[in-house]
Amino acid sequence: MAAEQDLMGKLMSLCKRRGFIFQSSEIYGGIGGFWDYGPLGVELKRNIKDAWWRDMVTGHDDTTVSAGAPTTYEMVGLDASIIMHPQVWKAVGHYDLFHDMLVDCRTCKSRFRADHVSTSECPRKPSKHPGEHHECDLTEPREFNLMFKTHVGALFDPASEAYLRPETAQGIFVNFKNILDTTRVKLPFGIAQIGKSFRNEITPRNYTFRSREFEQMEIEFFCLPDASRDWYTYWRDLRFAWYTSLGLQSDKLRLRDHGPEELSHYSCGTADIEYAFPFLECGEFGELEGVAHRGDFDLRSHMEGKLVRQGDGFVLELDADGNPRYPGSGKDLRYFDPQTRERFIPHVIEPSAGADRATLAFLCEAYAEDEAPDDKGKLQSRVVMKFHPRLAPVKVAVFPLVKRERMPDIAQDIYRELKRRWNVIYDENGSIGRRYRRQDESGTPYCITVDSQTLEDQTVTVRDRDTLEQIRVATKELMNFFDEKLNM
Ligand code: ATP
Repeated sequence: MAAEQDLMGKLMSLCKRRGFIFQSSEIYGGIGGFWDYGPLGVELKRNIKDAWWRDMVTGHDDTTVSAGAPTTYEMVGLDASIIMHPQVWKAVGHYDLFHDMLVDCRTCKSRFRADHVSTSECPRKPSKHPGEHHECDLTEPREFNLMFKTHVGALFDPASEAYLRPETAQGIFVNFKNILDTTRVKLPFGIAQIGKSFRNEITPRNYTFRSREFEQMEIEFFCLPDASRDWYTYWRDLRFAWYTSLGLQSDKLRLRDHGPEELSHYSCGTADIEYAFPFLECGEFGELEGVAHRGDFDLRSHMEGKLVRQGDGFVLELDADGNPRYPGSGKDLRYFDPQTRERFIPHVIEPSAGADRATLAFLCEAYAEDEAPDDKGKLQSRVVMKFHPRLAPVKVAVFPLVKRERMPDIAQDIYRELKRRWNVIYDENGSIGRRYRRQDESGTPYCITVDSQTLEDQTVTVRDRDTLEQIRVATKELMNFFDEKLNM
């Protein structure tokens, strides 16, 4: 455990030093639960989001569906607003139910999630948990709604209250009819969205893992009720395979089915894709993504109003006068099947991933320490970020060996040529060994050096980040060479 915590400390310091992640508003002392991505971090996170969009939406394989799923499907995208009509959150239950239980300490005024007390540190005595120090005076657990409230318009009265969305999913459900009316999608099909979500987490912690502002990558996949079990299995397996295809290959990644007691109020089946982050206790895993079978809960709620569980199903929640407690939109959100000429509410499978947690997992997995020769051939320890080439923030770095004899000009020409296709950097400062070290810490898969041999035979040295192998490649072949290496 000490080694793992040590690893987390080293990773956080690398992220700061190299410009992956900064504390938000750091010069003012920071603000808990908010983080900024620096020049390398923004590239890494963008590559993760682009890979997700490419693999799940625009480039998904709609001809060969495995894992017993019954047919082919279409995927379309959406970008909904962050602030939505407040009735959205009332109808779907978040207004009442999107809360955590919190415990306050009357002595130190700290606040903890009731279910995290046994793993939190007492601020007065970090070696103890809240409640264990003789001065601790904890309150009973109380409900705390996680939605950030704001006001829309000039008046600050209850009628102007609105919320920053705590999940992107509802933007998809409220646009379900728009998408049916404007595209030619037929069941089964999915709507995908990447966007910011906000939760006023009681105890944001573990670096970016539990933030108050974060990005989600969510799919709502609509299908026939009868086929929903197969599609649930399909998405659960496909999403797990996506992480392994991008390099989360260690036994730190696992797929875990929820037990019945863990299921959300709407869910009839959920599996989490989890990662053993270094800040967790040995044997503990943190959620990267949840894949949930949501039945017809959301669309029905937006049609009829807030539902409550009764027996195995849901019924409309009524107020004392027998009216819907929180009415829905009243719009018909059923799907019309042109073949059977039936109208029904489709069932939904939701793979819901966090872009920040994925970024953190890829950072943790990539971190490695080994040895590499310095300029004199002597082995020195190095830190290297072994990102999958698709995710690496910078793909190639180009160096002139020295700043003379036309080497900078040739290196600049190569840099400009490759930059048309990939994120490439040019660096002429410091010894070659130091330049390699910088790129190793950034996770750049390949470095090119223009040297005196280049002047004679128009070849350059290409060094592989992971194997440290150096080969000579003709300058005019570089485009093809990297095309093969990087566009896997
Ligand atoms: P947790 O139990 O860890 O609070 P959750 O089950 O509430 O997570 P979901 O509502 O299923 O999370 O959200 C889907 C995904 O959004 C999560 O798997 C995670 O990747 C991401 N996510 C949720 N809350 C946060 C947060 N506070 N910070 C960063 N990412 C988050």
